[in-house]
Amino acid sequence: MRHTLLFTILFASFVPQMPATAADQKANVTRKWAIVLHGGAGAPPANATPQQLQARRDGLAAALTAGRTVLAAGGSSLDAVEATIRVLEDDPLFNAGHGAVFNSEGEHELDASIMDGSTLDGGGVAGVRTVKNPITLARRVMTETGHVLLAGPGAEAFATQQNVDRVPNASFSTELRRAEWEKVRAQEAAENALRQQPAKPWQIGTVGCVALDKAGNIAAGTSTGGRTNKKFGRVGDSPIISAGTYADNATCGISASGIGEQFIRHAAAAQISLLMQHREWSLQQAADYVLKQRLRPGDGGIIGLDRSGMIVWVFTTPGMYRAAADSSGRFDIRIGSE
Ligand code: ASP
Repeated sequence: MRHTLLFTILFASFVPQMPATAADQKANVTRKWAIVLHGGAGAPPANATPQQLQARRDGLAAALTAGRTVLAAGGSSLDAVEATIRVLEDDPLFNAGHGAVFNSEGEHELDASIMDGSTLDGGGVAGVRTVKNPITLARRVMTETGHVLLAGPGAEAFATQQNVDRVPNASFSTELRRAEWEKVRAQEAAENALRQQPAKPWQIGTVGCVALDKAGNIAAGTSTGGRTNKKFGRVGDSPIISAGTYADNATCGISASGIGEQFIRHAAAAQISLLMQHREWSLQQAADYVLKQRLRPGDGGIIGLDRSGMIVWVFTTPGMYRAAADSSGRFDIRIGSE
């Protein structure tokens, strides 16, 4: 009897604490798991057809279902993030994996990262050209190398060692992305245009996911083709832990989309977590501050969740493709400014 009591007390002290936020307490919401994903900051073009919009919604719903299934079955947040992002990478409508944007050479260079909020371990790959699912290789960097970021030919060699799925570079291409590239190329005759101008809707879009599992662990991941017509070798924020991806069980998980250079300059994802930690701000307050006070209008957006499973999205673009689900029954798909 005494042993049982001792065990109960010890066990209770190791169970992850997931205090509800003030808003949740008021609404009496408790969550065992939660997941949020994005398919890029930016709004659909004004001339998008209802069928095109529905295809985006269906893609977001399929990815959300993949991650939600993992979490509801008691799987880890890392598995949920990887499963979700793989679905989005394989969907030609999103700028990651198949459907990635073209760089200035008319090819594809893919970036991705993943972070484990329970250990602060992270892994990323930059500029990979033949890896079908860069998020999976990023996870292997985290678990198999002791490093955080592998780039270019080294990352490709590691992919060979790890035996992950490979495809020819041209198989990432879609006609839609080629048309966008040609349009952007025509408009970017000026040398510095990409750096100086605010984001255009067709230049942004990326995928990402943040999940909280039943054990209280947060994971975050991001995967992208980068920005249309980017210079050969350019690396954005998505493969960089602290810039485009961050996760810490003590605070939150974040995945970003937008002008990567801006998210790198401001260590945007980590800055949100640090504001929560050191100023005791809520995720909403911290994300609003970084997106609206530190970054420029139109730079992009983030999705995130805190350790109570409270989901937040903030964007200063005209819209963001995003979706969320949690153990209270939420299943929410949004595009544009909805
Ligand atoms: N952040 C990505 C990059 O700069 C692009 C995007 O989110 O659309 O590479």
